[in-house]
Amino acid sequence: MSQVEIELAKTAGFCFGVRRAVKMAGEAARQYGGCACLGPLIHNNDVVRRLEEQGVRTVKSVSQLVPGEPVIIRSHGVGPEVYRQIQALGCPVIDATCPEVARIHALVEEKSRQGRAIVVIGQRGHPEIEALAGWCDGCTVLENPEETEKWLREHPETAEIPLTVVSQTTGEQKNFENSVKLIKKQCTNGEIFDTICGTTSSRQREAREIASRSDVMIVIGGRHSANTAKLAQVCAGECDRVLLIENARELDPAELAGAKTVGVTAGASTPEWIIKEVNRKMCDENKTVETVEENNAAEAVNETVETPAEPAAETKTEATEAEASFEELLERSIKTLHTGEKVRGVIASITPTEISVDLGTKQSGYIPLSEFTDEPGVNVADIIKAGDEIEAYVMRVNDVEGTVMLSKKRLDSVKNWDSIVDARASHAVVEGTVVEENKGGVVVNVKGVRVFVPASQSGLPKDAPMTELLKRKVKLMIREVNQPRKRVVGSIRDVTVSERRAKAEATWNEIEVGKRYHGVVKSLTSYGAFVDIGGVDGMVHVSELSWKRIHQPSEVLSVGDEIDVYVISFDKETKKISLGYKDPNENPWVKFTSTYSVGSVASVRIVKLMTFGAFAEIVPGVDGLIHISQIADRRIGKPEDVLSEGQIVDAKITNIDNENKKVSLSIRALSEHPAPAPEPKAVKPVEDEDDGPVVVYDTENPPAPEDLPEE
Ligand code: SF4
Repeated sequence: MSQVEIELAKTAGFCFGVRRAVKMAGEAARQYGGCACLGPLIHNNDVVRRLEEQGVRTVKSVSQLVPGEPVIIRSHGVGPEVYRQIQALGCPVIDATCPEVARIHALVEEKSRQGRAIVVIGQRGHPEIEALAGWCDGCTVLENPEETEKWLREHPETAEIPLTVVSQTTGEQKNFENSVKLIKKQCTNGEIFDTICGTTSSRQREAREIASRSDVMIVIGGRHSANTAKLAQVCAGECDRVLLIENARELDPAELAGAKTVGVTAGASTPEWIIKEVNRKMCDENKTVETVEENNAAEAVNETVETPAEPAAETKTEATEAEASFEELLERSIKTLHTGEKVRGVIASITPTEISVDLGTKQSGYIPLSEFTDEPGVNVADIIKAGDEIEAYVMRVNDVEGTVMLSKKRLDSVKNWDSIVDARASHAVVEGTVVEENKGGVVVNVKGVRVFVPASQSGLPKDAPMTELLKRKVKLMIREVNQPRKRVVGSIRDVTVSERRAKAEATWNEIEVGKRYHGVVKSLTSYGAFVDIGGVDGMVHVSELSWKRIHQPSEVLSVGDEIDVYVISFDKETKKISLGYKDPNENPWVKFTSTYSVGSVASVRIVKLMTFGAFAEIVPGVDGLIHISQIADRRIGKPEDVLSEGQIVDAKITNIDNENKKVSLSIRALSEHPAPAPEPKAVKPVEDEDDGPVVVYDTENPPAPEDLPEE
């Protein structure tokens, strides 16, 4: 046999129902010195034979029981009539009915009592179906969609009558779904319960996946087991070479010839020592396989079915395995659980109320949804799915019902408590959801740990309602951990402060004149706007807000506006940044000078009349002064004798002062014979080394009339 890769299904082997039944049988045999079992306990001859050696004899019917003899009810269960007969014989009952099966009994009993007709999609004559039939007032068994279709055709009355449909626990999902589809089409008063056991569907799903990537697929299980037969059928759909064997003796290595990958799964009645024997036989044959591969395979077995620790000897033969007492082997495979213990299992199914977990023990594990997580608004199906591994705490073991209540949220809480302690030590930021508001602040759920955040640390402004934070995801830092009192105090504000500090540092490190930032307006004053450009506030002076003349920053901006700004200047020492908001490309002076020059005639709009003249808008943002002496070619008393605000007139540009951005205009210069204009009186001489004094009209602070030249 050449080197092969062996992949063992995690879900291979005993389901919890079977594991529980085998364990109970062993215990009963020990306690009573022998007992009877109604029908073979499980579909595995090796196990049944070994149990017989322990004193568990198999009987076919109640008539074969000896009065007073303890009797085991196997995981398939029995009908109520059988219980009555056993009772009449005075036989103590060891009831190993699988809790999943018992739930279906209770369901059909109740529905039947309500007058509903019971339909079971399953295998006629299967012990589970026969037992189930006893719990209702008659039931119809349909094996597949073809039978379902025929039955519906022959029973048109089903369109109206109340109908309850359930499935055999080991039924195939597709078969059930297709049958249900037909029933739903015809029956208007039907209710459907998908009672396929989660462990069965997970096992089939995983087997299908492994088979699809294996050259040979080995299915280990009893030939009389419907569950194993179905498993082999599912694998055959994906893999051409499927070997159905009951134990290692039946494995012919020649059948693996040429295979590079071999998948292994096992039915619910296959104990792990048989799986292990098969695995070992393959490894022994596969001499060229590295030890590590064997170890990996063994690890897989260990992981899956909790096989006990390996003996020191490197190779342990079938014979030595067989020499181990049956009880020992059983004990190895069956764990006893205790409250508070941490366990790992595989999710078998998810219902609207609980998550069923196969723990590899005799009990059926379940996590009530309330014990899954405290995170509000979590959809369990988004986080986990059947087949996933899960860890949880044992909350309660109910040996009578064969169930174990588990809690994932408590385990998470313990784990997360440690991470909270670490977070405090390292000042790390943690995340959580605000779940509660109280007098002094809010409570944040950080992965199951309740962290109190005082109002002053909430990051909200004083007097802001705390309800604003409810259900919100927040980042926080842990300030205080009181382990004995399980009290944790956190701060959302610390995170914002430290984030802002880090941002500020980055901003100061990279700031340069002209650099552009996208910022948020934090506040407005009469002289400008403060803008957060990343942990640091810069100021945009009112004169830098608009090219137009504005009086208040609020004419242009509002608090909260997101704006683009650029750095005009900054001082790292005083931590002051001066920002610009006006777009330089929109500079009206540039626009004006690129269009007009001295001597140009412009159509201007009179914007303001003063005693000394009129201001007129040449282009938006650039006004020029028409001195009173330049308004008309005659002497006028005041500008409003000729002009009015809003009026559009033509004027000649007589002077452009680029340095001070001032323009002089004249209407008079456009008249046919303009008289020479008197020189205006200089109100603010500016020394220019090259050109001598330049006369400037300050349009913001116009000259007083008495300073103006006489006409
Ligand atoms: Fe119980 Fe499911 Fe196992 Fe059947 S397959 S015995 S229902 S656990």
